[in-house]
Amino acid sequence: AYKNVLITGCSSGIGLALAVRLAKDELKRFKVIATMRDMAKKGPLEEKAGETLEKTLQIRPLDVTCEDSVRQCMAAIPDQRVDILVSNAGVGLIGPLECHSMATIQRVLDINFLGLVRLVQEVFPSMKQRRQGHIMVMSSILGQQGLLFNDVYCASKFAVEGFCESLALQALKFGVNISLLEPGPVVTEFEKKLYEEVASMDFSKVDDETRDIFQGFYMAYSKDVFSALGQTPEEVAEHAVQVIEASKPPFRCQTHSVYTPLTTLKHADPSGQLPLSAFHQLVFQHDRLFRASLSLLKMLQWRKRRDLGPLPRPPAPP
Ligand code: NAD
Repeated sequence: AYKNVLITGCSSGIGLALAVRLAKDELKRFKVIATMRDMAKKGPLEEKAGETLEKTLQIRPLDVTCEDSVRQCMAAIPDQRVDILVSNAGVGLIGPLECHSMATIQRVLDINFLGLVRLVQEVFPSMKQRRQGHIMVMSSILGQQGLLFNDVYCASKFAVEGFCESLALQALKFGVNISLLEPGPVVTEFEKKLYEEVASMDFSKVDDETRDIFQGFYMAYSKDVFSALGQTPEEVAEHAVQVIEASKPPFRCQTHSVYTPLTTLKHADPSGQLPLSAFHQLVFQHDRLFRASLSLLKMLQWRKRRDLGPLPRPPAPP
């Protein structure tokens, strides 16, 4: 028997990679309902889906900000049976808070947080009734740790985390699994869209010092982090598949081990001071050190991709 997997935000990035990966499963265990807000953008998915199209992968419209759209998509699924929901659609937002209109802030929360709530309202009742199902949510490492100039985005992912932590307690009672996937930076359209938005941002309400920190420091920092640590959407999809396949799926799964010490620090100090000052130093004071370690990481990743193994050991001193 196959499982119906509904994924949101499949026109690009992680959603697209995961949809294709599951549709091409050698054992044909999944029927993927790959959804997207704008069907005019289905070209890249169709191309990558290849022969699986209309066999193990169907493309359907779904806008997570619209309840009717979610319901219509559900109604077209045989018996409305979603075995695995992957709530993936999301948008980023960077910049000083003074640059964002309330409409922009509400839009981010509407897509990233309320979008998840709309989906869960539709699929959770029948999963409970059937006493099976899996809800996998694309959170972020920024659902665990705040980051400079990501205030609203972090708030949206923290909301996602709190929502799922609460719901997981009820889900356990009904044999339904909930998992949060927490990637670090991933090289997708996401990053490009962030910088495009910055180019048209209104900085008129921002003081000079804040503006300098953002434009002079943060932008370079962000690009460095994406280029040194950025995973591919396919790598993240692989982690997602492991979570889906697990006989006891984990509640949380970080896709990049570099962030684990930082998030652990948070739990080590309930006052919050330790992680806050560690992160502050990491970002502001030790940026040279940080850049140096990013370069090293970049080199290690480059070697890994070419199967060159770890760096050779230095010769022993005479
Ligand atoms: P992406 O921009 O390539 O994909 C996001 C998708 O969501 C797009 O296809 C977009 O069209 C879709 N979307 C936006 N609004 C929508 C709506 N109203 N209804 C339906 N779909 C909508 O970026 P990505 O990196 O693949 O992001 C996927 C998820 O991963 C997001 O939730 C994001 O927050 C999360 N994430 C991304 C990164 C990263 O660095 N790229 C890191 C951690 C978490």
